Amino acid sequence: MSFIRVALDVPLPTLFDYRAAAATRDDIGARVLVPFGKTIAVGVIIELASTTSLPPQRVRSVLSILRDVPPLPADVLSLFKFCSEYYHHPLGAVVLNALPTRLRQRHALEGEEAAHHYRLTAAGLAVDAKTLPRRATIKLELLRLLRAAKAGIDEATLRAVAPRAMAALKTMTEQGWVERVARTREPLQSGAAALRVAPGPALTGEQLIAVATLRNADAGFAPWLLHGVTGSGKTEVYLQLLADTLARGKQALLLVPEINLTPQLEALVRMRFPDTPLVALHSGLNESERLHNWLAAQSGAAGIVLGTRLAVFTPLPGLGLIIVDEEQDASFKQTDGLRYSARDLALWRAKQRAIPIVLGSATPALETFYKALNGSYRMLALTRRVNAMPPVIECIDTRHEPLIDGMSQALLNALRITLKHGEQSLVFINRRGFAPVLMCPSCGWTSGCGRCSAKLVLHLQDQRLRCHHCGHQERIPTACPQCGNQDLKPLGQGTQRIENALARIFPAARILRIDRDSTRRKDSWQEMRRQIHAQEVDILVGTQILAKGHDFPQLNLVGVVNADSSLYSTDLRASERLFARLTQVAGRAGRGASRGKVMIQTDFPAHALYQALRRDDYPAFARELLAERRQAGFPPFVYQAVLRAEASRLETALEFLLGAARDGAKMAGAVTIYDPVPAGMPRRAGLERAQLTVQSRSRPALHAFLGAWRARLEPAAGRKVRWALDVDPLEL
Ligand code: ADP
Ligand code: ZN
Ligand code: ZN
Repeated sequence: MSFIRVALDVPLPTLFDYRAAAATRDDIGARVLVPFGKTIAVGVIIELASTTSLPPQRVRSVLSILRDVPPLPADVLSLFKFCSEYYHHPLGAVVLNALPTRLRQRHALEGEEAAHHYRLTAAGLAVDAKTLPRRATIKLELLRLLRAAKAGIDEATLRAVAPRAMAALKTMTEQGWVERVARTREPLQSGAAALRVAPGPALTGEQLIAVATLRNADAGFAPWLLHGVTGSGKTEVYLQLLADTLARGKQALLLVPEINLTPQLEALVRMRFPDTPLVALHSGLNESERLHNWLAAQSGAAGIVLGTRLAVFTPLPGLGLIIVDEEQDASFKQTDGLRYSARDLALWRAKQRAIPIVLGSATPALETFYKALNGSYRMLALTRRVNAMPPVIECIDTRHEPLIDGMSQALLNALRITLKHGEQSLVFINRRGFAPVLMCPSCGWTSGCGRCSAKLVLHLQDQRLRCHHCGHQERIPTACPQCGNQDLKPLGQGTQRIENALARIFPAARILRIDRDSTRRKDSWQEMRRQIHAQEVDILVGTQILAKGHDFPQLNLVGVVNADSSLYSTDLRASERLFARLTQVAGRAGRGASRGKVMIQTDFPAHALYQALRRDDYPAFARELLAERRQAGFPPFVYQAVLRAEASRLETALEFLLGAARDGAKMAGAVTIYDPVPAGMPRRAGLERAQLTVQSRSRPALHAFLGAWRARLEPAAGRKVRWALDVDPLEL
């Protein structure tokens, strides 16, 4: 063959042909350096070809085929192709986006850094630590670590010792104490004998049934919904399934919403499988760690890959099981660039590899629950908490009660009693900052963001007004910019205001605020979790960061402030999300010995959502929502895509969408095209935004339409409009 077709990271839906006489079939999936315009680009070989449609003089030659790491395997290339077709996104952008940054860069890897370990030489082993100066703390620590691991340690681990660890390591290498050695990648050992599994608790009856059902199922593709109420022990079921998979010598992919929020899961899995190499893949890693972990997955050396959404693209030659925890979580869907759903791609991957996939949740996405009800997925239920009674959930009617900084007398009393018993409480409010807006009572001015259709949030602690959408910030004005009034008022509550109020009302209580502001510093969240577990905290104030999968045994009271705003939102999924969030928060209460209590402040205590929540009855709530959706013709009964457009003027964006709608109408067929409308948030970071929804009862019809439509959008957009197609949008 004389040509290769290459995927490049450019926004064009084509592959690029190059001359490459030396390429063989084994190079499909390999990275290449090619000339592109006036630059050199990194691409991936997708196909070999004996001909090209380009005129011969225009075909350029490949510069080099990079063989430093193994080529991408065929199944991952098919996943990319599917992803590109399904999300109507250029293949090159899909492929390059999924690679670790280091593999996207021009200079080939030195091979070494990917596959090398550091270990002590004989001279290094002979060094007497006592002869080193006491202040050489980093060197001493490195020596200690390297002594303990005779086989060697990878760079990422050593780098984590201290900011200057690599410099110290370099000196030690020059001194002849340390050497870099090629790491041998042992393939996974198969057979249970080789694997130690630390003992876990005896399973509950429901867990036993779930595990046995999964074990006895036929081999091959099988999607399962593990619907387990909070605290029912879903993780233990995952661990059993992981053990089975590892015993068969296979790899498992465990996808989670945000690893940083749940570091204890990683620790738990490592502890249970002490001999199994586990790698994490998430955005918190630096580039060499990410590359290293990705290569360990690709080589088959990693038995377990624990990752966030981007991990769904990882090559896994021995893949035998996929688990998606909290499958309803919105963070599985990327909301810019390639707008993929990692959960949906995981399902596709499981099908392609003919393996089981387990979607776990206490409050599954309606799409998922619907599929479980109609039999496309099989359902496993854990209906009881393992160690505790479900919490008592009550609504506090706030219609006629005076609130103190947003909190009712009933909630404050409950906090006081919990405090007296020496137990922990949590006040949940899903808004950080002091108050969502600053207002002038005399003229009605409010603090708006100049670049967004959003209010600037008051952050008293650092004396700023901040936009949570575009990052803009400014000083708090001393007087109203409109009328000069000096008495500006914060309106509404945020975590900081609740924290202040609680400190005033309960001066002796130890209060800890947990939100994105207070956990920004690396490791601060870890330290906070330690404080909570060590009972150094009485009252927690926090956003949903706190709601996700944490086990705080002493937490007995949860108060929910300001939940109502989502009840009557125009967002199709607002109530589904609110139910999920409140279920998670409520699930924090009473995991220890005594029964927990949840108090929800609301103006609508009779609302069906709160009623279902009080009965802990997700299925009833979901059935009701499904009936509504069916009637209204919303997902999961129809399939949707949204065309989003941004421009400096709203009319420009709307005009483009209107043209697209007219153009689409000619070929719509079974697809309904709605009118263009300004986006839910019409202005963000200085750009006006509008959108156009298209939907159909038939997925193939929608995709046939999108394929043809998309090709015509490109030329129509011109330079003034930025647009994107969002398939299966979560937000409308
Ligand atoms: P979920 O993820 O379903 O909310 P978890 O997996 O976090 O629940 O389990 C809740 C708690 O119960 C955890 O502390 C876990 O260690 C414990 N647990 C789970 N299964 C068992 C069991 N079979 N015996 C005793 N404790 C268990
Ligand atoms: Zn004013
Ligand atoms: Zn803004």
